[in-house]
Amino acid sequence: MRTSMLSKNKSTTSHLELFNFYKDSSLARMINFINEAIVVVDSNGTMEMVNTNASSLLGLSRDELLSENLLNFINDETGQIQSHVIQCLDNAAQNALETPPFEVSLTQRSQSHRDISVEISVSSLPEELSSSNSLFFCILRDLTLHKAEYAALKRKAETDFLTGLANRHKFSDYLSSQWTKCSSEGSPLSVILIDIDHFKAFNDEYGHIAGDRCLKRIGELLSLSMPNRDTLAARYGGEEFAIILPNCASQTAQLLAIRIKRHLAQLSARHFVLASNKKLTVSMGVATNENQRYENITSLLQAADTLLYQAKSRGRDQICFL
Ligand code: GH3
Ligand code: MG
Ligand code: MG
Repeated sequence: MRTSMLSKNKSTTSHLELFNFYKDSSLARMINFINEAIVVVDSNGTMEMVNTNASSLLGLSRDELLSENLLNFINDETGQIQSHVIQCLDNAAQNALETPPFEVSLTQRSQSHRDISVEISVSSLPEELSSSNSLFFCILRDLTLHKAEYAALKRKAETDFLTGLANRHKFSDYLSSQWTKCSSEGSPLSVILIDIDHFKAFNDEYGHIAGDRCLKRIGELLSLSMPNRDTLAARYGGEEFAIILPNCASQTAQLLAIRIKRHLAQLSARHFVLASNKKLTVSMGVATNENQRYENITSLLQAADTLLYQAKSRGRDQICFL
C-alpha cells in the first residue's frame, strides 16, 4: 500500500488521500506520543500530518488543518518571515544543520484568534519516511508564557524596588546607549544628579519607615516631572536620584532641575516638615555633553557629581551647573 502510494505521481494524489495514508503510518501514530506540538509539512508549507498538541496550539482540528498551509498562520505583513520559513525548509532539505530554530508570531484559529509567539524548529524527514516530494518535521513551541515571565523578570531586574524608578543597572545601560546615539547624531545629552540634603537627620528624627515613604514620594514626583518618553529617572543610590535627558541642551536641563526643585519644595512643605521646622531640600548637579565637551560617560558623570558637591558645599538646597 505504502509503496504504491509513494510511487504515485504527487500531483495526481489528493491531500485527502495522502492524509488518510499518513494517518495510519507509524510516523503519524508516533508523533501523537511526543509531548511537543508537531506538524509535518511539504516544501510549500502545506500540512500533511498534525499531532494533537499542534492541533490545540493552532486552534483547529486535525482534519481542518489537513488542507491548511502553516505559512497562513504566520503574522507577516512584509512577507519576509514566510520567505525565511521557505528558506529554512530548503536548508532542511539539504540537511543543513546550521538552520537554527526561529521565532514567529502565529494567530490561533480558535474562537479568540489570539496571537502567540512560537519557536519553530525544522528538520528534513529521511526519504523512506517521505513521499516522492520532501517532507519536513516542524516542532512548534509556544513561547507566550516564557516571554511574559522573561518580560516580568527583566522589569524587576531594571526597577528599584522601593521607588519603582529605574535602578542603577538600567541607568547605566540607558546612559551608555544614549551616549552612543547622541554622539553619533551630534545632539546634546544632559544628566541631573539629585541628592537629598541631611537625609540622615530626617531618618534619625522620623525613622527609616518615614524615610522610605519620603523616597517613594520623591520617586513619584520625578516620574511625573519627566518631559518626554526618552527621559529616564533613576534611583542612583540610597538617597540619590539621577535623570538622563537625551537630545536636551544645557539650558533645558537646568529649567527642568529648577522645576523639580520647586515641586519638591511644595511636596516638602506638605509632607516633610522637620521638627526643627526646617524643610526637606535637595542639592543638584547638572552637566551636559555638548560639542564633545566630555570624552566619555565617566567624565560626564564626574562633572555632574562635582557640580552636585559644589551645591552641597555652598550650603545645600541649590542647583549647580556650568
Ligand atoms: P548630605 O546633605 O551631605 O547629603 O547629608 P545626608 O545625611 O543626606 O547624607 P549621608 O550620606 O550622610 O546619609 C545618607 C542617608 O540616607 C543615610 C541613610 O540612612 C539614608 N538612606 C539611604 N538609603 C536609604 C533608604 O533606602 N531608606 C531610608 N529610609 N534611608 C536611606
Ligand atoms: Mg548621598
Ligand atoms: Mg544626602
